[in-house]
Amino acid sequence: RRIAEVDSVAVIGLGRFGAALAEELMASGTEVLGIDTDEEIVQSYNGVLTQVVRADSTKEEALRQLSVDQFDRVVVAIGHDVQASILTSSILLQLKVPVIWAKAVGEQHGRILEQLGVHHVIYPEREMGRRVAHLVRGAAQDYLEIEVGYSLAKLVVPASFTGTPLGATDLRRKHGVTVSAFKPTDGAWRNAENSTVLQPGDKILIVGPTSRVEAVAQLR
Ligand code: ADP
Repeated sequence: RRIAEVDSVAVIGLGRFGAALAEELMASGTEVLGIDTDEEIVQSYNGVLTQVVRADSTKEEALRQLSVDQFDRVVVAIGHDVQASILTSSILLQLKVPVIWAKAVGEQHGRILEQLGVHHVIYPEREMGRRVAHLVRGAAQDYLEIEVGYSLAKLVVPASFTGTPLGATDLRRKHGVTVSAFKPTDGAWRNAENSTVLQPGDKILIVGPTSRVEAVAQLR
């Protein structure tokens, strides 16, 4: 079977971002074709990814030979060489790859990728910076803004949320957030139910409007 026929993703550019992405895809059971121009990088991911090839993605013929046009999903993880990123994305669009993700190193780069028609433009540094700001600021242990204004956070349960079944508290009304899961100090993560009684030290996962999530993360 050719790799493109199974559930697989092609990752172009195995720098820090592309390599981490490729390895995480592998860990979660997705086959990965990695492409990079750098021979040393290609060597080092040999055996780690399903397939690693040295090629220049700005050459349409090279991408065709690797059957990249047969992949449903391709990630352009070239960042610093903006020209290579744009050229590669443009070729992939021309080859009609159904879903293209591309990493942007800055706003202008991102705007060009979006104008080209790249389906998902990602801004890893901007997003990481924003995310870490919430971690630095508050008591949240992990934080994800799902979309502007709506967030998910992991935190140690505030004292006022403990001891009463969740369904009997007025958390939603008073704090505007939903506790969606919890992790007792000695147990695994579980979905929260109306009958769940949280104990001091439990970790919780809350979702809600960003400002409300932030406020809850500041509670003790
Ligand atoms: P990061 O910041 O995530 O490390 P970089 O932009 O520094 O990202 O790295 C991108 C990777 O993409 C490098 O390993 C580089 O060799 C590779 N690369 C750059 N241009 C091309 C290209 N035309 N074809 C394939 N790979 C490329």
